[in-house]
Amino acid sequence: MEAGVRKLATELNRQYADRPLTVLGVLTGSVVLLADLIRQLEMPLRVGVLQARSYRGVATEPGELVVNLELMPAVAGCDVLLLDDIFDTGRTLDELARRLEACGATSVSSMVLLTKVGRCEVEYRPDYSAFEIPNEFVVGYGLDYQDHYRNLPFVAALDPEEIAAGTQ
Ligand code: 5GP
Ligand code: MG
Repeated sequence: MEAGVRKLATELNRQYADRPLTVLGVLTGSVVLLADLIRQLEMPLRVGVLQARSYRGVATEPGELVVNLELMPAVAGCDVLLLDDIFDTGRTLDELARRLEACGATSVSSMVLLTKVGRCEVEYRPDYSAFEIPNEFVVGYGLDYQDHYRNLPFVAALDPEEIAAGTQ
């Protein structure tokens, strides 16, 4: 994880240099990455959050996407970086990028820690991604299964039997 986050931070520091940036973490999965990443960023920085959820109940397949921008700071005239834990079907970041552009952001780019290979259902692609992973349901480093496991300091594939059985 550490090397991946360092790589992402280096790319942003190079790309934005002294240009102010607003980083918006997608709750809740991005919180660990957000905390680790922003401490390595050197440009004038604003940090905010927004909410998006697509996984419902015990299912590990995405359901309807629900977005809440109420927690987010004003982004009109700002260069914005959307930060999420994982790029799967792409529907979340595709929709959020559109919504932020509609809010008047000068530019909207996106960054994820993980990209699942072969799952994308949209044309949109994240601008920065640290690691590609196979199509398995993963937890840890912010990623959850029913709000468990976010605190694991590493990313691990969840045992399919545990998915089938449900937790606790
Ligand atoms: P997308 O819209 O790209 O399909 O899904 C992105 C969101 O789905 C991520 O923000 C994340 O919350 C959730 N997600 C996708 N794949 C996984 C996974 O393997 N594990 C976990 N815990 N969440 C996932
Ligand atoms: Mg998420």
